[in-house]
Amino acid sequence: MTDVRTHLSRLDKPLQYATRNDFANLSKLRELEPFVKHQIQAMQSLPLPASMPALLTQLAETVVGFDDLTLTEKRPRAQQAAQILSRLHALSDRADAPPAPVPPPKPTATPTPAPAAVSEDPLAQPVQFMRGVGPRRAALLGKLSLHTVGDLLWCLPVRYEDRRNITPLGMLQAGTRRTFCGTVTAFQLHPTSRGKSFATLRLEDSSAPLTCKWFQHRGLALQERFPIGARVVGNGLIAFNRYDGNREVVHPDLETLEADDTELVHFGRLVPIYPLTAGLTQKNMRSLMHNTVETFVPLIRETLPQSVCTAHRLPVLEQAMRGVHFPDDNSDLAALNEQRTAFHTRLVFEEFFLLELGLAIRHREVRNTRRDKHYDRPNHLGDALLKHLPFQLTVAQQRVLDEILTDMHRPFPTNRLIQGDVGSGKTIVALLAMLLAVSNGQQAALMAPTEILAEQHLATLRALLQHLDLEVALLTGTVKGRSRQKLLQRIADGEVSVLVGTHALLYENVQFHGLGMIVVDEQHRFGVMQRAGLRQKGLRPDVLVMTATPIPRTLAMTLYGDLDLSILDELPPGRLPAKTVDKGHQAYIVYPLIEESESLDLGAAAAMAEHLRHAVFPEYEVGLLHGRLAAEERDAVMRAFVEGRLHILVSTTVIEVGVDVANATVMLIENAERFGLAQLHQLRGRVGRGTARATCLLLPGQKLSRESRQRLKVMQESTDGFYVAEQDLQIRGPGELLGTKQSGLPELRVGNILHHGVWLERARQSAFTLLDEDPHLSREEHRALLQAVQTRWGRQFELATVG
Ligand code: ADP
Ligand code: MG
Repeated sequence: MTDVRTHLSRLDKPLQYATRNDFANLSKLRELEPFVKHQIQAMQSLPLPASMPALLTQLAETVVGFDDLTLTEKRPRAQQAAQILSRLHALSDRADAPPAPVPPPKPTATPTPAPAAVSEDPLAQPVQFMRGVGPRRAALLGKLSLHTVGDLLWCLPVRYEDRRNITPLGMLQAGTRRTFCGTVTAFQLHPTSRGKSFATLRLEDSSAPLTCKWFQHRGLALQERFPIGARVVGNGLIAFNRYDGNREVVHPDLETLEADDTELVHFGRLVPIYPLTAGLTQKNMRSLMHNTVETFVPLIRETLPQSVCTAHRLPVLEQAMRGVHFPDDNSDLAALNEQRTAFHTRLVFEEFFLLELGLAIRHREVRNTRRDKHYDRPNHLGDALLKHLPFQLTVAQQRVLDEILTDMHRPFPTNRLIQGDVGSGKTIVALLAMLLAVSNGQQAALMAPTEILAEQHLATLRALLQHLDLEVALLTGTVKGRSRQKLLQRIADGEVSVLVGTHALLYENVQFHGLGMIVVDEQHRFGVMQRAGLRQKGLRPDVLVMTATPIPRTLAMTLYGDLDLSILDELPPGRLPAKTVDKGHQAYIVYPLIEESESLDLGAAAAMAEHLRHAVFPEYEVGLLHGRLAAEERDAVMRAFVEGRLHILVSTTVIEVGVDVANATVMLIENAERFGLAQLHQLRGRVGRGTARATCLLLPGQKLSRESRQRLKVMQESTDGFYVAEQDLQIRGPGELLGTKQSGLPELRVGNILHHGVWLERARQSAFTLLDEDPHLSREEHRALLQAVQTRWGRQFELATVG
């Protein structure tokens, strides 16, 4: 390394000279380019540590055409060069150090990416590394989830302000929004009659004064930030003050200008506005961003292969990063603000592309995993069940079942999504598949989203399996103490063949004897990341995910993009003989049930049931159903309704999924605005299952927000589940649609599946095609891409290293 070191220290001299004392000598520096290149050439003939050549190339690039640059352009270049040089020093020091002891080999077969490769990524450096970022500011940035240089670069402006043209104060016209610049000449607090005060700052330039006004302010903070004599730049809506005849602007965006604000970062251009957190000013943030862009964007490695960029007419990454953060003067302000410039699109595409590539790789990896259980024995339990079934499978059911069984006979684990409307008969299909696993000595588990549904499933499965000699058990939170311990033991011993429970089971450490298959019913939080997580628990079952919720395509591509898909697109023929009824269909009345106010809503439902029973419909039987009833009571009520002994069922949302009474034709939903669209759609789906025309009444509470009104309107407009889901997505966003924050959705930084759906489709296409062509991303031009997808999704999707 000695020789390398010599060359590096030769490079130190001009670069230290250039950057010293805030670049004081920069104008005197000559011939940097040939000098640097000469040293680099000399080094290239020496044996070098692995990542050094790439850095040397980057260094050479920073000095290209150096002498011809303006001073402003030279500064960031010189700074970059100095930074690259210090990394080169660090590398050569490390190469000299005695080799680290070899760590014991890991027990896993999965190779992990070499850590060195990751730490060489300049964008992985923590933000503290940046000039002007100490521990305090780093903590503030941390609140915005900005931990690394890469995080900063991917934190895009929320909007842009047009500060290209500064209007002299004398030329400001009332009624226009303008950018202006002036010197603070006075600060005043004006008491008002109601004991409050407003604050004014007087600005002046050579042409006229302008009053800046704040109501609700912290007067002293204003005075501190904009002291008399300070030069400021601002933007706002200009108004005319009738009393003093001056122009004024209320609550302007105002920033001070410092003497060295000559680089046109904060004004005289289209200025980016970033998300902030308390304690961080826009100006701090923008300076930091400018610094980051100038220093690191040139070090960015292009991720997308050129063919992909060309096909979608996308600018290269470096250009896109500059373009979104500090756009050129001739950019289109509206396009910037709507995030639809080519630069934005490129970043959105990249994010989607990496996501879809991650999903594609995961899909492929699952198919490359050898299954550890084999279903050599025939499905004798399934066949036995079929013999006892009171109906025949529909064509769609048979087709989907075949798809699953084919999967199960393949050499890799099954990972399939079954989509089918409520009542399409998913349960029996899943059960028949589970029985193949059980016929082969494995266990199978069925997971439901709520305890009630788990209990319903248990009842269904027990009834269906009554002729088979199998142990079917329920494990939910309500099974406690000794019986829980005993059950866990029987599961571990393999005595339980079929286990029904809630999803919570997956997060507890239930020990299985041999879990062959997991069926997950109606649970969107069981997205790609959760499924990937199973492997960490040492479970590698076949996985079926079932859903009745129509999932908008873009969402499905994000959540389930790694699954194979089966669709049950046929409802079984009506099997209940039509009841002879004089006036008599049945009706539901539904009350929302919100966790925090459970007792209150329950009270409302119970009171309503009483009221209906005695005062309104004394001639009918009215039942009450809610989650607090004991299981037997609930069953009894449900059975009474199913069998027509109850005419009106007052209920909380427990009837939402899975309940099917064809004779029920009227539903009244109280406080309908409290339900999400998907939920309303599910509820409404409970009526209109028979031949009679059904009615669903949505009874809103009193105060309706705009959003609620919009939602109820969608329900009126359409009964098409996909339309409703799509609208729900538009109104509420994916996180809300799927539940709370842990929606199971991979987190995206710039891509938005609502606004950029088209690009998601394109990215998916493109990613899957690319992986077909280069299954291991082993081609040279895909190296950076492989690294990027590993960094971004490798851990969360549990990707083994590709290649
Ligand atoms: P979902 O798809 O909503 O889970 P289920 O599996 O609960 O639907 O089935 C709804 C009802 O339809 C159940 O009562 C089930 O027994 C019945 N069913 C399922 N398949 C058929 C069929 N092929 N013919 C008649 N009834 C069926
Ligand atoms: Mg179901």
